[in-house]
Amino acid sequence: MSTTSLYSRKNPFPAPVTVNRRLTAPGAEKDTRHFEISLEGSHLQYEVGDSLGVFPTNDPELVEAILKQLGFSGEEEVPAPHGAPVPLREALLRHYILTEPSKQFLEAVAARDTSATFLKDLLNPNVKTELDRYLWGRDVLDPLMEFESVRFAPEEFVKVLRKLQPRLYSIASSQKHCPSSVHLTVAIVHYESYNRPRKGVCTTFLSERAQTVPVFIHSAKHFHIPEDPDASLIMVGPGTGIAPFRAFLQDRKATGARGRNWLFFGEQHSASDFFYQEELENYHSEGLLTHLHTAFSRDQDYKIYVQHRMQENAEEIYAWLEAGTYFYVCGDAARMAKDVDATLHSIVEKVGGKTAEEAREYIEVLKKTKRYRRDVY
Ligand code: NAP
Repeated sequence: MSTTSLYSRKNPFPAPVTVNRRLTAPGAEKDTRHFEISLEGSHLQYEVGDSLGVFPTNDPELVEAILKQLGFSGEEEVPAPHGAPVPLREALLRHYILTEPSKQFLEAVAARDTSATFLKDLLNPNVKTELDRYLWGRDVLDPLMEFESVRFAPEEFVKVLRKLQPRLYSIASSQKHCPSSVHLTVAIVHYESYNRPRKGVCTTFLSERAQTVPVFIHSAKHFHIPEDPDASLIMVGPGTGIAPFRAFLQDRKATGARGRNWLFFGEQHSASDFFYQEELENYHSEGLLTHLHTAFSRDQDYKIYVQHRMQENAEEIYAWLEAGTYFYVCGDAARMAKDVDATLHSIVEKVGGKTAEEAREYIEVLKKTKRYRRDVY
C-alpha cells in the first residue's frame, strides 16, 4: 500500500546517512563518494532520473572565523530568513550563504570603510566582469579580513546575507532495487584560494559532518526513463554523471525491461576512478549492458574523452538512433555536454549522409520527441 509522504522541500525528512564511502582510490586526484541515505519511515517515493534535495549547514570553522573577525560571541539574537529569532551562530550555520558574498554585503562593507574605494568602484553596474573576477574564490570572510575595521550590528549583518539554498543531486539508485534508501555519487569540492583552504558547502557537509540530512525529492520528469520497456538507451555519463545511469540500470534490471542499454563512462584513471566498476562489468557480462565503453582521460599522454569513444562507434550509434533509441547525457555542462552534442551532430551528419543543417533538424526532432535528454550542471 502506498502512503503519501508528509515530507517535501518545505518540510524535509531528517534522513540518516548510512554509507559514506570513497569511490576514488587513495592517491586519486579527486575525492568522489558514494552515499546511501535512509528513507525508512518517510514514505518518500522517487523515480529514476529524479534528484535528491539536500539542505546543508555551513562549515563550523568558517562560522567561528567570521564571528571572531566581527567580534561577536555567536549568542546575539538575529532573525532567521523566515523571521523567527535565533542565535547568530545558528543563523550562520543553517540559514545564510557564507561562501558567495552578495552585492548587498559588499555595499555594506564599502559603506563602512572609507578606504574601500575600489570596492565601491566594483559595485558600479557597468563593471560587472571585474566584480565577478573579484568574487571568484572569495567568501564572506575575505572582504572582512581585507577591511578589518568593518563592524556590523548582528541584525544588520544577517540582513545583507542571502538565504542558504538546498542542493540537488541526481539520484544514483532505483527504489525498485533499494526500496528504503537513496544513493548519491558526489565529487567532494576542496580547493585553496587566497591562502586559505576552501570547502564546497554541501559536498563537505555530506562527507565530513552529516549524520542526519534534511532531504526532499525533486522530480525531474524531463529526465525520466522511457515508459516503453523495449526502448533502447544510450547513456553518456562521465564523472558524477554516472549517477542517474546506475539508477536506470538498477531499474531496468528490477523490471526485466528488454530494451538495449549502452553506457559511455569517463574519468581520469582506470585504476583509481572507475566508479562502480564491478557492478557495471557485471551488468555487461550478464547482458543488461549491451555495450560498456570507458574513456580514461589521463591513462595515456593524450586525452581520451567519452565523445572520442562515440566517434569510434559512430555507425552503430547512428543505427541505434535510427531504430528509435533514447539518447541521455549527464554531467559537466560547461565543456563535456557541449562537446558530446557537437559529436552527436557530426555522427548524424557523417554517417547519415546529411548536411549540417539536416543534422541539426534531425537532432531537433530527437529533442522535440524527448529522445535526447540532458541533466547537466
Ligand atoms: P568531470 O570534471 O566532469 O570529469 C570527468 C571526466 O570528464 C574526466 O576524465 C575529465 O577529463 C573528462 N572531461 C574533461 N573535459 C571534457 C570534455 N570537454 N568532454 C568530455 N569529457 C571531459 O567530473 P566530475 O568530478 O563529475 O565533476 C564534478 C563537478 O565539477 C561537475 O559539476 C563539473 O561540472 C564540475 N567541474 C567543472 C569544471 C569546469 O571548469 N567547468 C572543472 C571540473 C569540474 P580531464 O579532467 O582529464 O580533462
